[in-house]
Amino acid sequence: MISVVIPAYNERENVTPLYEKLVEVLKDIGREFEIIFVDDGSTDGTFEVLKNIAEKDRRVKVIKFRRNYGQTAAIYAGFDHAKGDVIVTMDADLQNDPEDIPKLLERIEEGYDIVSGWRKERKDPLLTRRVPSRIANWVISKVTGVKLHDYGCTLKAYRSSIAKRYRLYGDMHRFLPALAKRFGAKITEIPVRHHPRLHGRSKYGIDRTLRVILDIFLVKFLNEYITKPLYVFGGVGFIMFSLGFLIELYLTFIKIFRGEDIGGRPLLILGVLLILAGIQLISTGIIAELIVRTYYESRGEKPYIIEEKINVED
Ligand code: UDP
Ligand code: MG
Repeated sequence: MISVVIPAYNERENVTPLYEKLVEVLKDIGREFEIIFVDDGSTDGTFEVLKNIAEKDRRVKVIKFRRNYGQTAAIYAGFDHAKGDVIVTMDADLQNDPEDIPKLLERIEEGYDIVSGWRKERKDPLLTRRVPSRIANWVISKVTGVKLHDYGCTLKAYRSSIAKRYRLYGDMHRFLPALAKRFGAKITEIPVRHHPRLHGRSKYGIDRTLRVILDIFLVKFLNEYITKPLYVFGGVGFIMFSLGFLIELYLTFIKIFRGEDIGGRPLLILGVLLILAGIQLISTGIIAELIVRTYYESRGEKPYIIEEKINVED
C-alpha cells in the first residue's frame, strides 16, 4: 500500500485539484493507496474543503492540527498515521507534480529506502529562494556526507520502515535524507517537475537561512555524535583546559623563579578562562552522555539498527 502525506497550511484553492490529479495517477499504479492531508492549523477554510473530499472518498484521511505547528510536525503526524509500506510526501500547493510519483516508486522497488525529488528546473524566485537554496544544499551535502541537489523538495518517497523511525522536531523536515544516514538508509535522487505557485502564498522567506545554518550543526551532531557527546564537548573542553593549565604553569614558574609580578598580565585571565570553560565543557559532555542514555532507554531503543538476522532466536 502507498500512503501519500501532504502538509497543508492555507491551501484552500489547491487541495481539490491536487486530490483529483493524485487519484488519477495513483489508480493507474494499481496498488492500494491512502492520501493523508495534514491541515496545519489553516485559517482559510482548507479543512472544510478537505472534509468534503474525505466524506466522499474513504481513501482520503484528514488530520487537523489545533494550531499551526509547522511543516515538520505535519509530516511527522503523517508518518505516524500512514499505513502504507511506502510513504510519499508532497506539497499541497501544486508545485510538486503527482505524475512523478510512479518514478519515485520505481527506485524504491530497486531497493532504495529514500528517493528524493530534485527540482531541476525550479519555478521559484531566483535571489530569495534558488540562490540560498543552492548554497544550503551544497553545505548540507558537504557537512552530512549525504549528497543531494535539492534537500528542500518535499516530493520524496520513503520506505515506511525508515520513515517511522524519525522523531522530528523544529524544522527538521528539510534534513530528512541526511537524518536517515543514522538509520543506514540507501538514498538516491531523481529529477522531478516543478510548477510555479498559482494560488495562495509561500509560507517561507529568506529569514529561514539562519535557522538552516543552526540546524546543520544539529544534524551533524545527531548523525555522528549522538551516542558519544562526551567526545565533542569533552574534546574541546580538554584542549581548552590543557592550554589554560600550561599558561598558568608558565606564569607560576615566572612568579616563583624569576620573582616577576604576574597580577596585571592579560595572560593570567586568559588562562583562568580557559580552565573554567574547559571544566564546564567536560561536565556538559558527561551530562550529555547521561541524557543520551536516558533518551535511548526511555524509548526502549538501541543505538544500532539490525538489517537481518540468520539463525538468531529472539
Ligand atoms: N506548510 C505547512 N505548515 C507550515 C508551512 C507550510 O503545512 O507552517 C505546507 C504548505 O501548505 C505547503 C508545504 O508545506 O504544502 C510547503 O510550503 P510552501 O509551498 O509555502 O513552501 P515553498 O514551496 O515556498 O518552499
Ligand atoms: Mg511551495
